[in-house]
Amino acid sequence: MGSLDEQERIKQPHVVVFPFPIQGHINPLMEFAKRLVCRNVHVTFITTQKIREKMIQAQDGVAAHVTSAFHDIRFETISDDLSPDFEETKDIGMKLDLLNKVGVLTFERLIQRLNSQGHTVSCIVYDPPLNWVPHIANKLDIPSAFFWTQSCAVYSICYHFYQGMVNEKDETENVMDVIAIPGLPQLCQSDLPSFLQPSNTGDPLLPLVMNTFSTISQATWVLGNSFDELEMREFQSMDSLIPIRTVGPLVPSAFLDGNNPQDQDVGIHLWKATNCIDWLNKKAASTVVYVSFGSLAILSNEQIKEIALGLKASRHSFLWVIRPDLNKEENNNVHDSLKDFLEETIDQGLVVSWCPQMAVLNHPSVGMFFTHCGWNSTLESLSSGLPVVTISQCSDQTTNSKYIEEVWKTGIRLNKIGKGLVGRDDVEKSIWTVMESEEGVELKKNALQWKILAKKAMVKDGSSDKNIDYFIDEVIARMVGT
Ligand code: UDP
Repeated sequence: MGSLDEQERIKQPHVVVFPFPIQGHINPLMEFAKRLVCRNVHVTFITTQKIREKMIQAQDGVAAHVTSAFHDIRFETISDDLSPDFEETKDIGMKLDLLNKVGVLTFERLIQRLNSQGHTVSCIVYDPPLNWVPHIANKLDIPSAFFWTQSCAVYSICYHFYQGMVNEKDETENVMDVIAIPGLPQLCQSDLPSFLQPSNTGDPLLPLVMNTFSTISQATWVLGNSFDELEMREFQSMDSLIPIRTVGPLVPSAFLDGNNPQDQDVGIHLWKATNCIDWLNKKAASTVVYVSFGSLAILSNEQIKEIALGLKASRHSFLWVIRPDLNKEENNNVHDSLKDFLEETIDQGLVVSWCPQMAVLNHPSVGMFFTHCGWNSTLESLSSGLPVVTISQCSDQTTNSKYIEEVWKTGIRLNKIGKGLVGRDDVEKSIWTVMESEEGVELKKNALQWKILAKKAMVKDGSSDKNIDYFIDEVIARMVGT
């Protein structure tokens, strides 16, 4: 008979959480990990060595800062075989290839080591691009959870395409042709995720996303970062196919449900975040336009210039996140190419390389969000009750933009015209609409309603909160010896 501590530990589930190592996947899985820890689950969070280095660099090189922010979460790394100079956002396909070749071996050894250290792994929550994980989990007799980091609408679209339930169109068909998928509004070609649009044949994201579905049946659970109230019909329509259980929106708790007031930031940033809160504090309520294109988007210099000129002409204060690698041109520092604009707008705006986005979205001075519509940014805007203008770039952003404008009605989407650009006049006009028109008041009202529903889903006994509890109960029920 072991000590009381040992007996407790045997009963405590040990969940390994393994995101695909990019910011937009690390964030929701880290927030999920925090929700598990709050419920007395032991969590090991896996990153690659490269990501670990970047996290430490972003914290001024102090490893202790990184670990102390998550004192209850254990971090482990696996090898990705990337050289220190490999630029993080440049090649997702290459990262995946390396993880498939090198990561797979170190991952299996890591799980065996964790098991041999006395705290047996009870479940592996994995990110679908890492589709070899359920195979290893099954081999080691550990249940696994497929964690979908995009919307349920996109889950359903991808599933239907993967199963051949929707025919792929050829390039000659009209982009306005309607695609019917049960539970979803009518979509035209341009509303589909970019990798499924006929004009993008050969998009490397297509095999990557489709492969994620090849092993879904090996996973014990499918979890998704969304909430029932937001995508009720979409979830229900998947119930008879491969049901997905909602556990979101996974944003820092302090800004939404308040269950964990200490959780004020995701805690993992791959770029050093500038504290722009002091600057925001000096601005009047709801006057600032926040602009960000997430962690991966790459824009042409022309597009950046059109946005800059539209912002300037709007005369609104703006806070713009321009990552050093936001533009396409090699060896061209985007901040240098905007030198004149930056000088001319010194009293109007602040440009930073990265910021604590949820704190910004929840700052009273921020009146709207100009976004690329990545799924995290979309959920974060809804959770913060902020209206948006979208300039989608690729992947699921096109579908998210459609939902923002036509289903949730919290924003305006801008389409690329002419040379494939959104022009300065459209940027200026959309800002005016959201910030100053009657339509803007309506968008804000809708956004605030979604904030209320998002909170309701995450507070005690809300739909997502209960789903997290069920998930843990089921993991415990499968543990040996219970
Ligand atoms: N983000 C941030 N600071 C920034 C810009 C983005 O913390 O300056 C976070 C944002 O809150 C979100 C994530 O980075 O959680 C970006 O994910 P999203 O799905 O929106 O876009 P992606 O980067 O995957 O295209």
